[in-house]
Parts: sequence; structure tokens; C-alpha cells
Amino acid sequence: MTKIVSLDDVKATREQLGTPGHEIWRTFFLGPPAGTRDPQAFLVEYAPGRVLQTHFHDADEFQIVVSGSGRFGHHAIGPHAVHFARAYTPYGPIVAGADGLAFLTLRAERDSSGPQKLPEKREALLAVGDRQPWQASDYASFEGSDGLASITPLRRLSDGHGLAAMATNVPAGVAMRLPDARGSGGQYVVLLKGSVAIDSRKVSTPAVAFLAAGEQGLKVMGGAGGAQLLVLNFPQTLPVVESATRSAASDDGERWRCGLCGFVYDEATGQPEAGVAPGTRWRDVPGNWHCSDCDAAKAEFFREGATEASGRSA
Ligand code: FE
Repeated sequence: MTKIVSLDDVKATREQLGTPGHEIWRTFFLGPPAGTRDPQAFLVEYAPGRVLQTHFHDADEFQIVVSGSGRFGHHAIGPHAVHFARAYTPYGPIVAGADGLAFLTLRAERDSSGPQKLPEKREALLAVGDRQPWQASDYASFEGSDGLASITPLRRLSDGHGLAAMATNVPAGVAMRLPDARGSGGQYVVLLKGSVAIDSRKVSTPAVAFLAAGEQGLKVMGGAGGAQLLVLNFPQTLPVVESATRSAASDDGERWRCGLCGFVYDEATGQPEAGVAPGTRWRDVPGNWHCSDCDAAKAEFFREGATEASGRSA
């Protein structure tokens, strides 16, 4: 039987970290011991204004904002934002807004050493030979699903290796089987709102369950007010690619890739949300511009299609 853990089951284990005025509280739903690589899931709550500098982990992970607001890198985030980062992909800084920030961190395999922070761990990161840094985020939307069972994919969270995220609405009294984890690297089911019965047991929000790739999808029955769940499939372990595919510059302009996290600046589209108009050449992007995903400086970027030596940012 799949193990379902709700906050009610574990709230007595909530622990306080950080320093006065910059507190973090952490509550483990699944807390395998150090040295193992079993699934790991926990809730993190940041005090208002708390900052965690850009960092990476040695395991793939999903992060789901449960409440509050803030920023991941240069992106504003709020409830039901879902972020996926591959192992060895830096992201951040994470900044909690005025009302604090609470999010779930979910890993199919425990990481081995917690956050590895930049710039301190930059050389260690660049020494990882076969990493393929990549991250994406999207919002889970349950709108338009009033009273109807529905499964809505989060389209940005897809990578051709099994990564998938689905927002699922289960109406009151309706029984349904959730998508299975076939072809993935394992699955989390997250109860975000409402309540469900699983194996005749009533589960309250927030709750998580982990399913191995071969397991059948969970069978759930919507509770009195219905339920809204996320189904999150991890990608399978990526095959090692000799060198990342790099497209040459097109007539529309060059593409410059962050050497730390893989973010791409495309001259054709620019970055209007950061005040950089479409068509802005890389050399004309302001010198104080930073990577949207990991806050790296311009000097960390390489021109796509170039070797490291010739493509280094000026
Ligand atoms: Fe970056």
C-alpha cells in the first residue's frame, strides 16, 4: 500500500532553523537518513524577507509553493507555482515576500549534502562532467473545473524523459484513478486543497504520497468539498550526452547560454520583463544584467555554437 503522509501526521516534528528574524521552519513528510537515496519530502516555511542564496543539489527536485509569495531567481512566485530543477542546476536566490513563503520540496532520491551554495561551490559545480542543467516552472491551475473531474497538464514541465506535472480536480464523491508513473523516475501525488479518501482513509491537506515508477496510479475519492491534487512525475535518469546540442546563430541573432544553470538569452526575443527589448544584441545587454534563473553575471554566459574559448562573454 502506498504511504500517504499529511501534515497532521508530522506537524509535531516541525523544527526551527536559521537565526532570529531570519527563521526557517522545516517539517519532514519523508525524511530518509543521511547516506541513503530514498524519497525525501519536506515543507519549508520562510519568515518574511528571508533569503536563501543561489544553490544547487545533487538530486532532481520539484518545489511547490503552498502559501505566501516571493521570488525564485528573478521570477515572482505565489501559491501553486511549481518549479522543477534537475540535479546540478543552480537556482535562486529564493526570497520570501512580506507575508512569508511556504513550499514543499520533493525528491525521488534524497540529496547527499543539502544546498550547495554559489559562488562558493562554483568550481565544484563546473567540475561535474555530465550534468545537463535545466529548470522550468509553471502554475497549477484548477480553474474551469468546477464540479468536473479533470486533469490539466502544466505544459512547461515536460522534458521528453518522463517529466510531467498534472493539476487534477476530483469532485466530491467521485472516485478516480490518477495517472500512473510509467516511464518516469517515480511520482509524487500532492493534495493541495480539499480532502480525499485513499484506501478508505481520509487524508487532509497538505499531504504527499510517493509512488515508484512501476506502481499503479492512486485511486482516490473526493471528500466533502472535492479535492485538488498535483501529480508529479520525475524524469528518468538522463542519458549522458557527449556535448550539449548547441544551435548555431540564426539570422535572427545569437543565443547565449548561462554556463551555470543553462538559461538561454535569445537576442531575437530579448527579455522585455527585465527591460531588455527584443532584438537587443548580447553586447548591448546592460553589464549589470543577471541570469533570470540563477542570478549569474553576464561573464558566465557562452555564445551557443561557439567553443568555450571563443564564445566567452566579453
Ligand atoms: Fe544561470
